[in-house]
Amino acid sequence: MRTGRAYARGPVPELEITATMSDVSAPHRGKARNAALAASVLELIASGQATSRTELAELLGAAPSTISLTVNHLVERGLVAEKGTRSSAGGRPRKVLRIGGADEFALAADLGGRHARIGVVLPGGGLDDVSTIPFAVDAGPQAALPPLAEALEVLAAARGRAALRGVGLSLPGPVNVEHGTVTLPSRMPGWNRFPVDAWLRERFGVPAAVDNDANCMALGEHTVQPAERRQSITVKIGSAIGAGIIADGRLYRGATGAAGDITHVRIDAAGDTPCSCGNIGCLETVASGAALTRILRERGAAARTVEDVVRMVSSDADPEATRAVRQAGRYLGQVLAANVNFFNPDAVYLGGILSTLEPLVAAVRSQLYEACHPLATEHLVIERTSLSADAGLVGAGQLALQRALARALAES
Ligand SMILES: [Zn+2]
Repeated sequence: MRTGRAYARGPVPELEITATMSDVSAPHRGKARNAALAASVLELIASGQATSRTELAELLGAAPSTISLTVNHLVERGLVAEKGTRSSAGGRPRKVLRIGGADEFALAADLGGRHARIGVVLPGGGLDDVSTIPFAVDAGPQAALPPLAEALEVLAAARGRAALRGVGLSLPGPVNVEHGTVTLPSRMPGWNRFPVDAWLRERFGVPAAVDNDANCMALGEHTVQPAERRQSITVKIGSAIGAGIIADGRLYRGATGAAGDITHVRIDAAGDTPCSCGNIGCLETVASGAALTRILRERGAAARTVEDVVRMVSSDADPEATRAVRQAGRYLGQVLAANVNFFNPDAVYLGGILSTLEPLVAAVRSQLYEACHPLATEHLVIERTSLSADAGLVGAGQLALQRALARALAES
């Protein structure tokens, strides 16, 4: 049955369907499937990856008649609007779908150690009013979040507060998405178990979404890439290393939210170097920005921060730093190669400040081509994130919009 396949291919993260299919009666089964399909349709329209019924049917592998029925329901409920027509190549003109309410938007912030990037994210993947503001993650959530919220409120007021649909945050630490809390972060003192999600909901009165920076970056980049690239790995290479996985067009978090955590994969070259996780010999201890800073300092260079490392390679063309960065790229490529062979993605996107360094990107690329099965690299795209520093911001905003839409869907 085609709709059955569509359901299996497009699981819904924001709608809680806890009963197994054998537990529920046939009418309920149909209802759950329709809700799941509606959520997938909304997500694809909100991200701008699909703008017509035909595209939706192709991406979700569902019958055009089923898609039409779902879209019509969403239009009736005011969640989706049809706007003008766009002629498809050689075909007849078709209606362009967008999220209902043209001026709707989400607020988003991508939090770093000392700064936060903030902006407005629009349905369709657009980004507006982006700026960088000081943000002291060390001060803990109670002190750091209120000034951030004030800066976001200024953006909301300028656009019309009534059209605010959600708030999304990208956090530089592990996030328990189910509870909306940070879990044992190594770089966010005082944030452990703080209910960021609930705090934002209460402060703004709209749905909130929080996730780790690599997941947000993966979702943001996926949003602006061709919709046919349904499987991808996005690696954020900064002080630490993180990866976000898109499987079948959806963010994949794994059983407990730890999917993509390649930074703690053990690698021979790291020997018994202690890692921030308490273990020894992790990739992070030889390939992260923090590791490169340490390694260069041990060799007598004046590298205090990741920014110093980047400057030494890109501006100064320092041979020692360039060698170290290239070696880090090889180690990262080794670990990534195992994942590419296993997962067979369409694309590997490299983001984070160290991805601006060509020697590192080149080393990752050659390592992947060398170590992966030819079938896995035949059409594999390996490139820098096209959104650069904004990928996390777009992803956080998209997560917030998805959550808002799921709630509107449940309430309609
Ligand atoms: Zn580790």
